[in-house]
Amino acid sequence: MASLIEQQLRERAQALLDEGSVELFLGYRQGSRSLRVAPFAARSSSETERLVWNAACVPNLAGTLHKYAGQRIGVALKMCDAHSVIQLLRFNQIRRDELYVIGVVCHGMADAERIAATDADTITLWDPATERPTLGPDQLLDKCVSCTQPVPDLYDELLGRVATAPPETKNERLADIQMLEAMDAPTRRAFWQEQLSKCTLCYACQAACPLCFCKQCALSLERSDPRRQTRDMGAIFTYHVMRAYHLTERCTGCNECERVCPEDIPLSLITQKLEQDREQR
Ligand code: SF4
Ligand code: SF4
Ligand code: SF4
Repeated sequence: MASLIEQQLRERAQALLDEGSVELFLGYRQGSRSLRVAPFAARSSSETERLVWNAACVPNLAGTLHKYAGQRIGVALKMCDAHSVIQLLRFNQIRRDELYVIGVVCHGMADAERIAATDADTITLWDPATERPTLGPDQLLDKCVSCTQPVPDLYDELLGRVATAPPETKNERLADIQMLEAMDAPTRRAFWQEQLSKCTLCYACQAACPLCFCKQCALSLERSDPRRQTRDMGAIFTYHVMRAYHLTERCTGCNECERVCPEDIPLSLITQKLEQDREQR
């Protein structure tokens, strides 16, 4: 059965399409597996029935907006996605007058890998009474455990209820950065050597990043390039270091890059450390 937010989202998307305010409404549809959703653009009111909203709505929809450039887009955004949209607006990648934003109050999204590692069938993802996930900190994405802002900074209308009690937060990433900072230089180099030696230069991190918006990436190697085939460590380090510098002041810490990495490389440690250094300058 659809949750209240899901029903409201479908109704609003349908109304916006019917009245012609938007040409498409971008949200999520159920994926082929439980705990998986995929971005979905509803173009007719009947298609809005496929829209879902639940604790699996993790992918950052900001990264999909460029596909619909020049069209009037309705979109459902949680706070972290809205931050990416704000950056896209700041860098003139999208136009505010082409966007109608339904902000959705967010109290955390599920970490599918952690839940799959336990028992997905026994977990109730959503409590209809409170309109929020019923997940503990060990079942949420790390970024959600430290998230203090349920309401997006950007919206035309808002769905969902804000909890009266402030969220309990714990910043695991900060602890990881402090752990890295405590290492001496050779130990830190060995840590990154070990992590980045797993990189296959598949560029999934780049494809998932809403703020990697250069038309042609100077850092990406052709599939036939010998450095890519041999996983040349120089090429790998160059890609990651240059990409991180390129994204400084753009990166919002949405963590999509790390989430999609098939090798589980802790990419957010690079971006967040750089961001922390920039803020402290
Ligand atoms: S970081 Fe915050 S807004 Fe983003 S999914 Fe997690 S709880 Fe929601
Ligand atoms: S680099 Fe990673 S965390 Fe930063 S905006 Fe891109 S996907 Fe999000
Ligand atoms: S997604 Fe992972 S393996 Fe692929 S290029 Fe990025 S860091 Fe390397």
